[in-house]
Amino acid sequence: MESVREGVAPMAVVSYEFRTVRRLEAEAIGVPGKRTFRLWADNDAGAAIIWTEKEHLQRLAMAVRHMLNANTEMRGQRALPEVPAPAPLIRLTLSFHADRFELGHDAETGEFTLYAHDWEVDETAPHTFSCRIPRRQLESLATNIEIVCAKGRPRCDVCGQPISGPDHVHGEV
Ligand SMILES: [Zn+2]
Repeated sequence: MESVREGVAPMAVVSYEFRTVRRLEAEAIGVPGKRTFRLWADNDAGAAIIWTEKEHLQRLAMAVRHMLNANTEMRGQRALPEVPAPAPLIRLTLSFHADRFELGHDAETGEFTLYAHDWEVDETAPHTFSCRIPRRQLESLATNIEIVCAKGRPRCDVCGQPISGPDHVHGEV
């Protein structure tokens, strides 16, 4: 006979597949030096607000550039069919903190997929969010991230650290 064991039920792991998104942008909120970063994706089915660190976004932009270089646009590739999200009964708003992004590429359609992992979910669990991104949109995203991340505090010519104000002390962040 099986014994009943008490314990904490594992957190339900849900993957939200946003398919084609209308908007996919990186944003920085707050004043330079204390900015919070997020990716914003939305379509008719809902919105995903993915909070993350600047470093993760920068790494994502680098991965995107690499991915775009490694998978050059091919002539004769069939036009990307837009995959509309199913008509929602309730418009979903998803908000989580991601510490890991992954990219996928479909050689047949030339389309890319972005995966984001919730930092509270086990590493072996499936992604929390995914969306399909045509090449142009992915290029725009990389440029967008690079601009957003570059808009921080200016760097000191002497010590190379970011300058927060006139009371800057060399070597201090
Ligand atoms: Zn300095």
